[in-house]
Amino acid sequence: MVIVYFIADPSRVFQQEPEEKENSAMSELALSLPMFKAAKAGGFAIPALNCNGNIITDAVVEAADLRRSPLVAQASQGAIKHAGQGDLVRGTEMIVAMTQAATIGRPGVKVALNIDHGSSVVQNALCFRKGFTMLMIDRSKEPLDVNIADSRRIVQMAASVPGIAVEVEVGRIGAVGDSTEPGVAIAEMKKHWTKPEELAQLAKESGAHLFATAVGQIHGCREKIAELDFDLFRQCIQAVAVVRDPTETGFVLHGASGVPDGDIRRAIEECGVVKINVDTMLRKAYIEAFEKFQSEYPASHDGMPNIDQRKPEQAGHDAVVKVACYLMDLFGSSGKADLC
Ligand SMILES: [Zn+2]
Repeated sequence: MVIVYFIADPSRVFQQEPEEKENSAMSELALSLPMFKAAKAGGFAIPALNCNGNIITDAVVEAADLRRSPLVAQASQGAIKHAGQGDLVRGTEMIVAMTQAATIGRPGVKVALNIDHGSSVVQNALCFRKGFTMLMIDRSKEPLDVNIADSRRIVQMAASVPGIAVEVEVGRIGAVGDSTEPGVAIAEMKKHWTKPEELAQLAKESGAHLFATAVGQIHGCREKIAELDFDLFRQCIQAVAVVRDPTETGFVLHGASGVPDGDIRRAIEECGVVKINVDTMLRKAYIEAFEKFQSEYPASHDGMPNIDQRKPEQAGHDAVVKVACYLMDLFGSSGKADLC
């Protein structure tokens, strides 16, 4: 049996860079604010893709490289906990290291790192100190005055490093599991959708750059069945425009896995959405490809059960690259890395 190894860029093996530090393989993560300014000016949205584990992280960064697209890699509180095996400090460091590692050998790739739905001031501060280049403080479950106060603290902290965008949220985005009856679930979700006047107050008093609104999306949705309420979305935009310079702010679309492509394009073109979050679609693509491989190739060449997990993982990885490339084309971010 002949085993063939290859190196994508053999010249890298012989490069001598004596003056560089010992950890020079770890490249810098990109600042996030320039990405959103470029997206606003250029009429496209930055894909914000959730990185659960090193394989998905590597796959979405590979897609960013293939498409020359800017990328926000993001980790939820759950992903940080998972990465650190329960230790949040270690998990935060692991996420930074995994994201940086995914950029190795991909010069020119622009990857910012965000905490998705960071639910505490402490976790946001930890991410900031460890090298995240974007923050999201989501205190939408708290009373508005608490949400505003905590959001303002994070904005003030992040301001010490120019180029770090801060996202905040008001209203509650629906989630799969809110109710088993679709009619009841929608009625229940609507009660918690963003109220434009609350959003305007949060925008004015927090000074945040980006706003996550609840306008009909559903977190964790495996099918594209969510319907955005564009009237409410427009009211939110107008309310913020009264209190803040629209060139300094932008909107984020969460739960995009459940939003039909046509509504996603409208959100970019009509509502100026500059960041679109996708998690469920990536997980689904990964797990389906993994399981398909295992069911098609249950045994290895010697007839024993296939225990080489690298092969189904590779299938999962390839499926995620494909979905991420598709999203970058849909969001209009393909070919825009150099603008950020
Ligand atoms: Zn979300």
